[in-house]
Amino acid sequence: MAYEAAVLAAPRTFELRSIPEPDVAGDDVLIAVRAVNVCPTDIKKWKDDGLAEMLGRTPLILGHEIAGEVVRVGPKADGISVGDRVAVDPVIRNRDAAGNEVLTGIGSAAGAVDANALLLKERGIGGGFAELVKVPAGNVIPIPDDLSYAAASLVEPLADVVFSIEAAEPVKGRRCGVFGLGPMGLLHVEALRHAGATVIGIDPREDRRAAATQFGAHEVASPGSVGGLDCAFIVAGGPALASASEEALKLLHSDGVLVLFASGPQNAALSIDLNRVHYRRQRIVGVVGFRRPDADGAIALLRAGAIDVDRLRHPKIPLSELGRGFAETGTPGTFKFAVDLPGRGG
Ligand SMILES: [Zn+2]
Repeated sequence: MAYEAAVLAAPRTFELRSIPEPDVAGDDVLIAVRAVNVCPTDIKKWKDDGLAEMLGRTPLILGHEIAGEVVRVGPKADGISVGDRVAVDPVIRNRDAAGNEVLTGIGSAAGAVDANALLLKERGIGGGFAELVKVPAGNVIPIPDDLSYAAASLVEPLADVVFSIEAAEPVKGRRCGVFGLGPMGLLHVEALRHAGATVIGIDPREDRRAAATQFGAHEVASPGSVGGLDCAFIVAGGPALASASEEALKLLHSDGVLVLFASGPQNAALSIDLNRVHYRRQRIVGVVGFRRPDADGAIALLRAGAIDVDRLRHPKIPLSELGRGFAETGTPGTFKFAVDLPGRGG
């Protein structure tokens, strides 16, 4: 048996390939992918010209925001059965001989890219832009029957947001600014609103501010025109990270919290008025990824209808047009390019 996958064969080049079905042994779980989304982490790898040589030898399958149905289980995949509906925690944690934590990732979501390419080559663990994806049992997140696969594909990014918001608690009744209104910013807007915060969406792009209003922001503003804040979430990555953080620190009230959710360029730095932080009892917190209870929080938010899944997973594309989705991510009117699959035999 073989399955179809969109393989990253060269920078900016997906090829739809037929791949032999992987062995399922030990604690392996084989999942028929039903829903998967494009994430900025995927795009970073897709456009990285530095990967050209490696991809020529060992291609990658990207995609880590995954939901699907279990179709085979290894003998040691305790508590997981064929037919289970699941989402995926894409970070695989191992220890090296010296006891240091070594990360790899399903869909290259974490760790070194060449290690992830080997994971596919040697263990058949690829990513979600495929009909099938194999994951270790420990990376399976069971989902309730009343949660659609589309909604469950957002468990991973939303769990990151749950972690982010928890770092700033309490948020209820407080003025929370979300800097950067791409899909992750919009998830912050929806989750914060649900938590009872007053949400201010901040982005230089008019179309993104308009989207934030649709997604429930109480106010929107362009950078430089924001009022005082109790909490600030920096969701604008890349070069905007430093400028947004600097602005946010100036706007924070006493007992305010700055949460660094996005990553920036290497050695991104900032000069901080330490006395302001001290006298105002402010906190600066970094978050990345999620902890398992945050996935439960994400599932609860999705079940409560706090997230407009269909509006966010837009546009939908077939696997064969994945390259277009990657190229057009971030253009006005698009949020998360998403792929829905019929499943095996569907
Ligand atoms: Zn992601």
